[in-house]
Amino acid sequence: MNQKTYLQGIDVIVVGTESAREAVQRLCGCQQCSETASTSLEYVLDDIRKGEGAAAYMLADTLGCPNCHAPIVETTLVQLRESRQSNWFELPLPETEVVLVEESSLVEAQRLIAECESCGEDAQITFDYLLDAVTGCDPTKTEYLMCRPAKCPRCFREVNEKTLVIPE
Ligand SMILES: [Zn+2]
Ligand SMILES: [Zn+2]
Repeated sequence: MNQKTYLQGIDVIVVGTESAREAVQRLCGCQQCSETASTSLEYVLDDIRKGEGAAAYMLADTLGCPNCHAPIVETTLVQLRESRQSNWFELPLPETEVVLVEESSLVEAQRLIAECESCGEDAQITFDYLLDAVTGCDPTKTEYLMCRPAKCPRCFREVNEKTLVIPE
């Protein structure tokens, strides 16, 4: 993808076989075979170039859809492989510790509840905030697993880690 000619200030990039193959590898379908194809091939090429400004592409070879073998040109809508789109799933989570909340801590945290989101209008903090206070765990790194749901002392509805509560 190194040949460049200049046309009205826009780079026209001739997409060589290598880059074309890389682009096709990222596809799993095209507008012919996938109803959800919504990305133009140009976008994929931009991504391969790491987006160095506006460019127009000229494919040196005709590309084919890896799924249905229909020809793909620069403006064909394509479907990207899932793995490209779900990278976030592979990101390492910030070190999170799962803490099992035993009965004693649960009862203690439950005592700090005045009202919950069902019976109090201004409930703004989640119950796990109270669990942080009781257990002394770092709220940014802790997820709680409760041995049983707590109960709101006022309306007796179940309260879990993410229920909004009003503390005493
Ligand atoms: Zn296709
Ligand atoms: Zn309540």
